[in-house]
Amino acid sequence: MLAKIILIILIYICYKTIKSLLSSYTAGSKTKVYYDEKEKIDDVMLKDPYCEVYFPERDGIHLNHEGENLVFCSTECRDNFLESLNK
Ligand SMILES: [Zn+2]
Repeated sequence: MLAKIILIILIYICYKTIKSLLSSYTAGSKTKVYYDEKEKIDDVMLKDPYCEVYFPERDGIHLNHEGENLVFCSTECRDNFLESLNK
C-alpha cells in the first residue's frame, strides 16, 4: 500500500517536472521570437525629410520621388512635401 502511494507521488512529480519543462521551453522560444522581431523592426530609424522627425521604418509612408525612395512619418508630411514641390 505504501509503495503504491510513493509510486503515484513519483509519477506525479515526474509529470509536473516534464510539464513545467515543456511550458518553459515553449514560452522561452516564443519570447525569443518576439524579441527578434521587435529588434528587427525597431532597429531602423528613418528621418522624415519634411518635418525632420525620426521614426521607425515600419511606421513610414514610402514615396518614390524622381527615382528616390523617400519615407515620411505620416501621410500628412508626404502630402505637405508634395505640395511644397508644386509651389
Ligand atoms: Zn513628418
